[in-house]
Amino acid sequence: MLDDAERVVPFTGAGISTESGIPDFRSPGGLWTTTQPIPFDLFLSSREMRDESWRRRFAMEDYFCKAKPTRGHLALASLYRAGKSPGVITQNIDNLHQAAGMPHEAVIELHGNTTFATCLDCAKRYELAFIRKRFEETGGRAPDCDCGGPIKTATVSFGQAMPEDAMLRAKAWAEDCDLFLAIGSSLVVWPAAAFPLHARKNGARLVIINREATEFDEIADLVIRNDIGDVLSPLIAH
Ligand code: NAD
Ligand code: ZN
Repeated sequence: MLDDAERVVPFTGAGISTESGIPDFRSPGGLWTTTQPIPFDLFLSSREMRDESWRRRFAMEDYFCKAKPTRGHLALASLYRAGKSPGVITQNIDNLHQAAGMPHEAVIELHGNTTFATCLDCAKRYELAFIRKRFEETGGRAPDCDCGGPIKTATVSFGQAMPEDAMLRAKAWAEDCDLFLAIGSSLVVWPAAAFPLHARKNGARLVIINREATEFDEIADLVIRNDIGDVLSPLIAH
């Protein structure tokens, strides 16, 4: 299918990153089984929730800062460099596609990026090391921006608006490909999960690579229920 395809669009979820040590949400023992996410309206309305949100983020920092791109990330970067794909659409927030060598503009991040933060009012960017220092100095209080606005990781929470530009670009890519690869996603988080459907409706072949069953296995042309690194590593160009 890869050989036949002219334009391949990969779409990734948390499963492509588990090999790097970052847990996913819905695998047995995944993050979801221990912590419920904090919805956006609660983050905005409650200082305690903002404190809790930053406490959780820093507890995860060891995972994120130690994580290296996986064989899956490297394979997709090779596919991109070979001119086979315009880039990757990702639900992940871990920056690992970029770390694997894909340029910023080739990575469409539907749920943002957790490796830096922004002010929700004035959009000023903050680095995590700076925020962490303030957080620790104040005994665990979520920091505010100089303008008074709340600072949040540059991610999209449940209940927060999706980034418009990323959504438009992702839709255009999904509608303009002949092979769509859904990799490491349970395909239950909407509206992100709509992209495999868009691609399928527009005539692309749909391949799903995921250890567990997904919502769209029935409409896929091929389902590979196996380890992502093992499946994709032959694509890594050395
Ligand atoms: P998910 O947790 O719902 O699904 C991940 C899927 O990947 C599971 O079905 C699991 O069986 C599969 N999987 C895990 N490791 C695998 C491997 N090595 N080989 C094959 N399959 C494997 O993840 P999702 O669909 O991406 O939705 C979770 C949401 O949480 C996303 O929106 C994402 O933004 C966010 N999230 C991101 C990260 C990250 O950036 N690394 C981590 C956790 C959650
Ligand atoms: Zn501000």
